[in-house]
Amino acid sequence: MNVIILKQGREKSVLQHHPWIFSGAVLKEKGVINAGESSEILSSDGRRLGIAAYSPLSQIRARIWTSDPDEKIGSDFFRRRLEQAIDFRKEMNINANTYRLVNAESDGLPGVIVDRYDEFLVCQFLSVGAEFWKNEIIAHLVKILSPAGIYERSDTDSRKKEGLEPCVGTLSGQEPPELIQIRESNLRFWVDIRNGHKTGFYSDQRDNRAVMAQFAKDKEVLNCFSYTGGFGISAMVSGAKKVVNVDSSASALELSKKNFELNVPDLANVEHLQEDVFHYLRTCRDSGKSFDLIILDPPKFVDSKAQAERGARGYKDINLLAFKLLKPGGILMSFSCSGLIMPDLFQKIVSDAALDAGCRAHILQRLFQASDHAVSLNFPEGLYLKGLLCRKL
Ligand code: SAH
Repeated sequence: MNVIILKQGREKSVLQHHPWIFSGAVLKEKGVINAGESSEILSSDGRRLGIAAYSPLSQIRARIWTSDPDEKIGSDFFRRRLEQAIDFRKEMNINANTYRLVNAESDGLPGVIVDRYDEFLVCQFLSVGAEFWKNEIIAHLVKILSPAGIYERSDTDSRKKEGLEPCVGTLSGQEPPELIQIRESNLRFWVDIRNGHKTGFYSDQRDNRAVMAQFAKDKEVLNCFSYTGGFGISAMVSGAKKVVNVDSSASALELSKKNFELNVPDLANVEHLQEDVFHYLRTCRDSGKSFDLIILDPPKFVDSKAQAERGARGYKDINLLAFKLLKPGGILMSFSCSGLIMPDLFQKIVSDAALDAGCRAHILQRLFQASDHAVSLNFPEGLYLKGLLCRKL
């Protein structure tokens, strides 16, 4: 077998079951190792640390499949790992027919994402190791779950870092329809798995939508970065007086309107605005508009350490404006999905925003990605979505 030997002292994270080996930790690569192939990882003094997928072009030079050096990486290995991940979601009895079945590194399958959308599966293969074993993984998913079809959405920027081209299309079974209707609790949504964000829908916000619903009755709600309507529909169905949805994407707003029609009989108190949220919040401030409940669920502002400061300013800006627009006693539900912004830093940004807005607030709840997007304790990088539920005094 091919071998990767680590520099002295660099075995520490591997022994703690962290799945990534960075290029800077590698002393020597022995044998002709092709992209995606399995390689044994050795410490500088020859200890056998496990088996990893080799990625010659990435800064993350290898992703560990197993810390057992004698485990065979082959079809059976993938069957076992997939079954473990899928069984765990079954045990959770999620009240929805859309959720994550396999969460990559956190499920011991680096680079492999599998989301269920009713009878269909949508997959992403984000590393060369995942790409290498794609056919085996698909064959097992067909056997274990008998889905109507499996669709691939491997069109993320992260694939470029691995030297992989984007890949989209049907991998097995039926072509999915243009829109799939899914259920989340008592809500229904149309999802465009071909063109939607990520694999189509933000099911990572499922639990947070339910939390928000508890506060929505009789409220005037501002749903910022509304995408296809998730939080807004949940609010309206839970008795909100009015919902204003703001997003810059015309196609997201079109689908959001369809989704409101599917769930809300009377649309007289629902607005859809195609606007830049930063600009819209300023307009509201200048015209003295106020709300009882504001949701801020922006896209990832920080993709690299270099963007951290600018991103932090972006988060502070929208939170400051939101605090100004909130009535006393109003609720702010504010999120960041940038993995590089840690929960503590995010809390600091939101508290600075409240200070600068000249108001005080309580934290009622800390929020995270839904539990089907579980994070391995050995892989803290897997936690990307964090939020705060605040009440303005
Ligand atoms: N809350 C949503 C997901 C939000 S995704 C849900 O639960 O489904 C982020 C959204 O922000 C996308 O729909 C994107 O179109 C929108 N967006 C990005 N930048 C924006 C901006 N500056 N102003 C308004 N919308 C923006």
